[in-house]
Amino acid sequence: MKNVVILGSTGSIGKNTLEVLSNFADRFSVLGLSANTNIRLLEEQIKRFRPKMAVVTDEESFQRFPQNYDTEILWGMDGLKRLASHPEVDLVINALVGSVGLLPSLETVKSGKNLAIANKESLVMAGELLIGKAKEKGREVLPIDSEHSAIQQCLLSGKKEEVGRLILTASGGPFLRKSREELKQITVKEALSHPIWEMGKKITIDSATLMNKGLEVIEAHWLFGIPSDRIEVMIHPQSIIHSMVEFVDGSVIAQMSLPNMKLPIQYALLYPQRVFSNNTSLDLTKTGQLTFLEPDTEKFPCLGLAYKALEMGGTAPAVLNAANEVAVEAFLACGIGFTDIQKIVQKTLKQHQVKLNPQLDDILNADKWARQTAKELCCESEIKR
Ligand code: MG
Repeated sequence: MKNVVILGSTGSIGKNTLEVLSNFADRFSVLGLSANTNIRLLEEQIKRFRPKMAVVTDEESFQRFPQNYDTEILWGMDGLKRLASHPEVDLVINALVGSVGLLPSLETVKSGKNLAIANKESLVMAGELLIGKAKEKGREVLPIDSEHSAIQQCLLSGKKEEVGRLILTASGGPFLRKSREELKQITVKEALSHPIWEMGKKITIDSATLMNKGLEVIEAHWLFGIPSDRIEVMIHPQSIIHSMVEFVDGSVIAQMSLPNMKLPIQYALLYPQRVFSNNTSLDLTKTGQLTFLEPDTEKFPCLGLAYKALEMGGTAPAVLNAANEVAVEAFLACGIGFTDIQKIVQKTLKQHQVKLNPQLDDILNADKWARQTAKELCCESEIKR
């Protein structure tokens, strides 16, 4: 029996993870859960899974949360860290959204636990620290992101030195066929309707700008130790191939399935085992055509910015991530336009003085600086509108 903790249990990945876990109740016990403001759902989850501990990160929600359960209720970042490092925990599933996931991720690997990671921001901000610490402790960082789960599965076909390139697929988001002019007028509502995946707001906007794919390139670099010039992105609107690996002999291995997050979640939870699941099986005669095209980096500059940040190295990816979080939030609040997101990220990155081989403090300082800078830039764009 493995004890698991889910950080961010009320989000899209968190809810799917609990469903997968309930299919394997004989193998896993839920020791901890966490939510930010969705305390109504957290209460339901507590009643159903009876965890030992639960964390509410939002202060006001914490104060309103009933304390009449056998479950110990903790508050804030300290609560998340306590949950992640609890001595009885075997596996931490980090499904938090955004940079708030970083410290709990680090706490998990520092305490020698396995980490299943859906919070790509942790790897973008501090991939080197995180993977370095996990290696030192002899622990695994297992991807839950569907593309990285696909790559992890494809990589089993050869040795690391036989890998030619990684090919990350992208659905292309809802605006694949819009012109640059049309992109300027995109509303929040349009940007929030993703054609394939049902996800949280932040990642849905990131998918529409292709920043999500950019963050995934950085994520793949740290997870699999492959340099960025051997990581490519391909648009594949049907999202049946979740990613591919080309080996040096020219053989390309692809992982396919219907788009459903339960599969990568189950793979990470049970890794390296494969176990029967009632996920709908893929019938290629029914999916019809699978198509592929090159990403348009002029129309979607965020993808190029992510490559650039990875090339700049050090604190640059943390700055990219922070500026993007601020810009996405401003867009969701209707403060800036859709195409302002890329401008804010680009300008913030340009103003940043990179610190190479950063320690945690350097990363946190860069994150703070980038947020401040991006906020100021958002205000300027707002005035212009
Ligand atoms: Mg993904």
